[in-house]
Amino acid sequence: MSNEHQLSLFEESNFNQKELIPTDAKIPIPLGTYANMTELAQHCNQCHRCPLGNTRTHAVVGRGNLKAPIMIVGEAPGQNEDETGLPFVGKAGQLLEKILASVKLDTEKDVYISNVNKCRPPGNRVPTNEEMEACKPYLLEQIRLVDPKIILLAGATAVKALINDKRGITKIRGTWMEWKGRLCMPIFHPSYLLRNQSREVGSPKWLMWQDIQTVRAKYDEILAVSDR
Ligand code: SF4
Repeated sequence: MSNEHQLSLFEESNFNQKELIPTDAKIPIPLGTYANMTELAQHCNQCHRCPLGNTRTHAVVGRGNLKAPIMIVGEAPGQNEDETGLPFVGKAGQLLEKILASVKLDTEKDVYISNVNKCRPPGNRVPTNEEMEACKPYLLEQIRLVDPKIILLAGATAVKALINDKRGITKIRGTWMEWKGRLCMPIFHPSYLLRNQSREVGSPKWLMWQDIQTVRAKYDEILAVSDR
């Protein structure tokens, strides 16, 4: 068999392997699989790597600037997100927009928003470890494609899924951590803030205000260095 023929067989087998990705969580998703977010979204919308694919209306992949310096990762879509196919569009999403706007961060320009799981867990329950593991390679590919300088992990599930830190969110929020050469910060999930309306000093909302200002300051530092 000529070298060329062998190589063409190799390409063909790779292609088939890629097509199998949405069918089974045992099929790996090597980094570099997707050329762009559209390709990745197509796979997510036909995906059955975990049972959440059986009940979704739309896979919810992400929104915002595909080359944003800041990426926000939440837990999983809720009902509004499942219906629209967009993350953080319900009340929690509106609050997130307000929090970002308070430090002049624009979701169309500065931020890309996604979730650990792309499909809605029934009744908005927390995704299981198996569901998170099945979906994680898509998230890793999204991070590679967006290539953010800062990743904000909204809520304990996102922290556990990405950096495997199982400490409570109240303990670690507002702390800079390094993950694969990127700066990460756990923050409260906006839906937690909706359940805790107090603005008193030390309340979750007040702490979020401190955290988002810290993020803004770090972002300005990064911008200043890249302008030099
Ligand atoms: S949640 Fe993720 S792994 Fe599960 S079916 Fe949806 S896209 Fe696939």
